[in-house]
Amino acid sequence: MLIDHLLKRNVFFQLSVCLVCLILVVGADCASGLSSEIAESNASIKVLIIELDSLRKDCLYEILDELPHIREVIKGKDNNAHFIYLPTVQTIIPSASAPANTSIYTGVYPRTHGVFSTTWFDRHQIKIHELISYSQDRINKILEEREIKTIFDYVKDAGKTNLVSMLFISKGVEPKRWLRSTICLWANSFWINFFKDCRTIPDAIHIDKRGTRGFLKGHIYSLSDGVEGYYRKHHTIPDLMVIHYFAFDIFSHYPHRYQVKEQWSMEKIQKYYLKNVIDPQVGRIVKWLKEKQLFEQCVFLFIADHGMTQITKHLDDDLVKDALGKEFKTQRFGRRLKKTEVICMAGAGTKAIYIKKRESKKWDSPPSLRRDIKPAVDLLLNNNEIKGALEAVLISQFPDERKEGIPETDAFWYFDGNNYLHTTQEEGDFLSALKPISHLDTLYQGSDLSTCFHKHYSRDSAPDIILINKPGLFYAPNKGKYGHHGSIYATDCMVSFLIGGPGLHQKLAQSYVIEEKATVLDLLPTVGRLLNINVPSTLDGKDIISTFNLVYE
Ligand SMILES: [Zn+2]
Repeated sequence: MLIDHLLKRNVFFQLSVCLVCLILVVGADCASGLSSEIAESNASIKVLIIELDSLRKDCLYEILDELPHIREVIKGKDNNAHFIYLPTVQTIIPSASAPANTSIYTGVYPRTHGVFSTTWFDRHQIKIHELISYSQDRINKILEEREIKTIFDYVKDAGKTNLVSMLFISKGVEPKRWLRSTICLWANSFWINFFKDCRTIPDAIHIDKRGTRGFLKGHIYSLSDGVEGYYRKHHTIPDLMVIHYFAFDIFSHYPHRYQVKEQWSMEKIQKYYLKNVIDPQVGRIVKWLKEKQLFEQCVFLFIADHGMTQITKHLDDDLVKDALGKEFKTQRFGRRLKKTEVICMAGAGTKAIYIKKRESKKWDSPPSLRRDIKPAVDLLLNNNEIKGALEAVLISQFPDERKEGIPETDAFWYFDGNNYLHTTQEEGDFLSALKPISHLDTLYQGSDLSTCFHKHYSRDSAPDIILINKPGLFYAPNKGKYGHHGSIYATDCMVSFLIGGPGLHQKLAQSYVIEEKATVLDLLPTVGRLLNINVPSTLDGKDIISTFNLVYE
């Protein structure tokens, strides 16, 4: 007992000493910050990226006049300011958060940055990669390993400063300028809800509101200064700031129960969220910037990583696995990946399937078109539920590797399933149903899906078969999920991109609505242009100001 008591006292004493030291260190840091730091120039442009996770194309612009704070940023108080609106901006395909965000902040397609999906299989490493972790650091690690630069690296290299809030990409950001608070908040509420009633979904509105607070003031979870702390020390704000309203995505997946009951359209749900949650949050940031007389030098970029589609039919995620299980060894508890012959990724509007070369029992070699891929496609197409949901099938190519008498020069073939099903499904029928992937573009006019697929996967991460579902049909358990993304359709793959703010108004000769297609990858070079820093011209994204010849001084 006595020892216990002493130990407790000792621990208490150590904690007290730590706390006092902490207060002294923090106090000293603030004091030296206020006295010795030289204020940076206030004249330069400051860029604030406001990422609205999952916001569909057009939603923001259509109700701009009902969003007083965002409207003021974009159009000015008297509606006479200049801005840039891009209504047709394509994100990566399939449109998932992790690879899309990585493309936004690196300016390159997944094939280059290496974040291919939320989960994917690597046939060389025989490993399933997952990005979900409490520390949210896995994307940064991939980028570090592959030496891929982010916008934050370019900003840092130019001697400028960054601050990033609620984003899971932060390579190039000083650790104390990376605010992860609400991700911890999300994880914590996940567990609290899990123990409470097994409904793990947190309250999105609460999280995004805390997001603004974390951005401005820092947060107890992160011990980082927010923008306010930065201002106290430097008398200005960082050159580039990002606030990621990631719970917008959660809300679009799981809106209010009454909205589900009343069958609200996804557009109505997202507009509701913009009006009731996002606009007041932007208002808080604008108010703070105005109080500090910093608003006038700010440029705001509003962008989304992907869109969102209302689910019209949930498909059981095990459907594909069970169909293939008739002839292939599928993933099973206790079965090692080495012994598995088929690996199916979870979800969504497109389904990724990896097939092993069964003859050599090796994952590393390409599966045989005749002996591995054809039997798998036959099993899938002869399942009525899978077939009924299907819009198209893609089959991976292995240029210069798989020599089966058919030239392989691209990343994927488009498989003409409709014609194939009207044949006797012999080997020759299968091979002649393999068409160039450009066939996909003729199905969806004006799209360049083939380019997106071409630039998405590496040799080792490319699925052997990709099932593309009809609009609204998703592989997702029917447990209250109302919206989803990851399909190839415009509701998921086209987002809006809006640039405005007093820092831009003076420099732009007029407002521009650019109907031509742009991509989310264009954000990075455009920010480079706004901040006057060098980014390589070899990136996949292009600076919007020079690409579209905007008059900008
Ligand atoms: Zn997202």
